[in-house]
Amino acid sequence: MRPDEELSVDYLVIGSGIAGLWFAWKAGKFGKVLIVTKKNSAESNTNYAQGGIAAAIAEDDSPRLHYEDTIRAGAGLAHPDIVEIVTSAGPRLVNELWRLGIEFSTKIDATGQKKFDLGREGGHRRRRIVHAQDATGQAIEKGLLAAVRSISTIHTLEEHFTVDLLLDQDGNCAGALILEKSTGRLKKIRANACLLATGGVGQVYRHTTNPAIATGDGIAIAYRAGALIANMEFIQFHPTALYGHKLNDRVFLISEAVRGEGAILKTRDGREFMSAYHPDGPLAPRDIVARAIAAEMLRRGDEFVLLDCTMIPRERLVERFPNIYETCMKLGIDIANTPIPVVPAAHYVCGGIAVNSWGESSIGRLFCAGECACTGLHGANRLASNSLLEALVFAERAAISATEKYPPVNKPKAPQLSYYLTPHPIEISDQAQFTLANRLRNIMWQYAGIIRSDAGLNTALRELNRLKDELPIVARCCNSVPLMEMQNMLIVAQLIVICSQIRKESRGLHYNQDHPFPDEKFELDTVISVNKFNVLEKF
Ligand SMILES: Cc1cc2nc3c(=O)[nH]c(=O)nc-3n(C[C@H](O)[C@H](O)[C@H](O)COP(=O)(O)OP(=O)(O)OC[C@H]3O[C@@H](n4cnc5c(N)ncnc54)[C@H](O)[C@@H]3O)c2cc1C
Repeated sequence: MRPDEELSVDYLVIGSGIAGLWFAWKAGKFGKVLIVTKKNSAESNTNYAQGGIAAAIAEDDSPRLHYEDTIRAGAGLAHPDIVEIVTSAGPRLVNELWRLGIEFSTKIDATGQKKFDLGREGGHRRRRIVHAQDATGQAIEKGLLAAVRSISTIHTLEEHFTVDLLLDQDGNCAGALILEKSTGRLKKIRANACLLATGGVGQVYRHTTNPAIATGDGIAIAYRAGALIANMEFIQFHPTALYGHKLNDRVFLISEAVRGEGAILKTRDGREFMSAYHPDGPLAPRDIVARAIAAEMLRRGDEFVLLDCTMIPRERLVERFPNIYETCMKLGIDIANTPIPVVPAAHYVCGGIAVNSWGESSIGRLFCAGECACTGLHGANRLASNSLLEALVFAERAAISATEKYPPVNKPKAPQLSYYLTPHPIEISDQAQFTLANRLRNIMWQYAGIIRSDAGLNTALRELNRLKDELPIVARCCNSVPLMEMQNMLIVAQLIVICSQIRKESRGLHYNQDHPFPDEKFELDTVISVNKFNVLEKF
């Protein structure tokens, strides 16, 4: 099967979350941009972000303090130069979004001035979370979509699935192969530079806060093309997802900001437990809270713990968390009167496609930003609300570099279409696809989740290999998007397990009970690629 159509653009953006849209907004002033996205434009992790964006804006705050908090969270692996770049850009970028019309929550201070209403989250020593009530991501997504739609040089293809990158004879990125989902038509899109901004990987776990799009496509695509991938063992589990209810393949998140307002974690019989695990109690870093909850659930044989916010006045809950308040109320939980049942859920991947400080991957003309990129900001653990900021910073820097290095006149060499294309579409029933995906999610939850072990990781790899053998042989260009997503999830799951096996210590988000402490000799990134195995280095 050959591509049915060829197109040429200056900049190809894959993904329409915060990273893709911000890149497009910046690059659209310099050339023609095409955004390709696999569902409708708004469907993204970005759209579900609740808490907000971290930026050192308060009078008692400074980028230096934000830097120190980020470095501390990173558990020895955050790259100081990157942390410096990101934390110092926070105030400027938040103000830029505000000027674009994104309505962050404000309040009038004692002097009568309008200021951002800053929230506080775990690991931050100051109130520095700029938010739009508890639906910050939705406000950003809506604002950025409106911005890019106002520029005539930016076009979007919705419901188009990116299958693979196109490489030229020197291995540089020359565009991508895209599948129009409604017709099955394949489009070969050539571009001076590409940005992968495909978001996270939460769908490889049984419980996740991520929507269905988060199948790790960008990471798998880049891996297949030979890019360096780093730190995939560092998966952040959000400690407090609503137990017992799923909304469109994801569990509903009860934002950490609720704990910032005073909510307390308790066992089912009403005993507060976080103070036994960390001096900051419920505002301890997320990994510690998630592990404490997992340990309490295991110890007591419970399936959930309780998040008690009944001490927060109802008016404050309604004003500050309208989305959480209403969603829980619809599900029969009046959070002003009843503690919320919560469990940890896969939330964020700190690793991804290794990029330098300009968002450039190890493949020429291929840039990455947002959750699919590994910039070095988070190291072994992400400080809450740093990811939206990181996406903005790296999308902007990638746009600067891409438009300077590869202006519209600087065309790439012709792509080599080296991929094997299946002549016949492969069909798989929804039920079979669902069963395969669930097996993968269960393997990952059980053996590569919050608490890991050497034996468990070995089992995970064995089971994943077995699953791979059972998967219908999918050449990458079949027209089954679920199968291609399944293949991508399998690659991502294997990368998580292999990186976890390499790191024989516990650090940040990676906890292996057979090696329960950090070990100096692992104070390095885990870097792998198709050609590179078992490597610890600084990327
Ligand atoms: C419930 C929740 C709450 C969160 N809260 C916060 C918070 O308060 N603060 C914070 O900083 N971070 C938060 N995060 C994390 C943050 O939202 C994400 O890290 C960030 O939005 C990622 O943005 P992105 O642009 O990289 O990817 P996304 O926003 O996930 O966008 C990815 C895009 O890529 C597209 N795509 C994927 N694969 C393909 C393919 N094969 N072909 C074509 N298109 C493709 C998708 O359709 C989508 O448009 C939260 C995440 C979740 C899930």
